Amino acid sequence: MDVKWIDGVLRMIYPQVCEVCGRSLCRGEDVMCLHCLRQLPRVSSNGDDFNLLHERLASTVAIERAAGYFHYYKESPYVKLIHQAKYSSRPVVARKIARRFARELSRDGFFDGIDMIVPVPLHRWKLMRRGYNQSDYIARGIADVTGLEVSHSLVASRGHATQTARNSYQRWVNAGSVYELRDGASVAGRHVLVVDDVITTGATLLACCEAIHRVEPSARLSVLALGVAHLS
Ligand SMILES: [Zn+2]
Repeated sequence: MDVKWIDGVLRMIYPQVCEVCGRSLCRGEDVMCLHCLRQLPRVSSNGDDFNLLHERLASTVAIERAAGYFHYYKESPYVKLIHQAKYSSRPVVARKIARRFARELSRDGFFDGIDMIVPVPLHRWKLMRRGYNQSDYIARGIADVTGLEVSHSLVASRGHATQTARNSYQRWVNAGSVYELRDGASVAGRHVLVVDDVITTGATLLACCEAIHRVEPSARLSVLALGVAHLS
């Protein structure tokens, strides 16, 4: 059956809109209109942005590569891209954005030598409440492009209070002990890409990397997030 024809009919019945500005999408546009895509406040992969990202993450664990797609701050309309995925039961948005980012990174060789993707896990209670893990959808989006395996060997071993009201130190302490690697052998000697929706202080991603290294120090680690928050 002609997939393009079906897509055309579906678009007539359910017009797709830009997740950022709400304008109807034209053929060839996906998730964002071309205008919003051009204005995306991108994190550059070199210079100050990269140093900031790497600094936040590489102080206690050896992180080989770090990538973030766009700057994430409260007043920005682009936070909707994350909020749709996280709070509005539309994780497919995160998957599609991850695909777009992965295609770009792929061209630059970012995934060369990486063996597997590990999403930052949600505790099972939170997973039950939300129904999905948005980071898992980001991992799947990257896998759609790269063909890399998505591993769920990292688990959140106990729940913790929402992090939004906590300061950096509390976040660090709070996130530090909740992640647990269940199958060390699966990451032994392998290059693991840990993915999250947003990097704020970097504490969550670091806690995940530390949890992997605690069990399997031979694992090599890189990280990726869609949003990179400004620190106040
Ligand atoms: Zn738009």
